[in-house]
Amino acid sequence: MHEAAMAESILSTALRIAAEHGSLPVSGVHVRIGELQMVVPEALEGAFEAGKRGSGAEEAELTWETAPALVRCPECGYEYAPELVFWVCPECDSVGGEILSGNELVIMSVELADRGEQPDEGERGRECTEGE
Ligand SMILES: [Zn+2]
Repeated sequence: MHEAAMAESILSTALRIAAEHGSLPVSGVHVRIGELQMVVPEALEGAFEAGKRGSGAEEAELTWETAPALVRCPECGYEYAPELVFWVCPECDSVGGEILSGNELVIMSVELADRGEQPDEGERGRECTEGE
């Protein structure tokens, strides 16, 4: 996923959450991004800055954390943190693996300016990925 599409997805999800709470504008968004997404921070920030203009999230600040990659070996089932380019199982030398984590884009929290509090627990961890 490119940063522009990612920023757009984050913005639209944050705005939807704010709208559901009847509480705009959005003052901050915190997301969790898997390292397999290979995000270029400056590019994501730039896309977010551009995308938020004129929206209910114009003043919003984007912060994020990185989720480490974890894959499962298809041969022996061993779970390991892969190198970003070459995935080789340290147990049996099989190549490749099933992604367990590291490919996500999740909204962790949305700060709403006029309430000064975050949506309740049920809103946390909402996936905003819609395919690649
Ligand atoms: Zn293996």
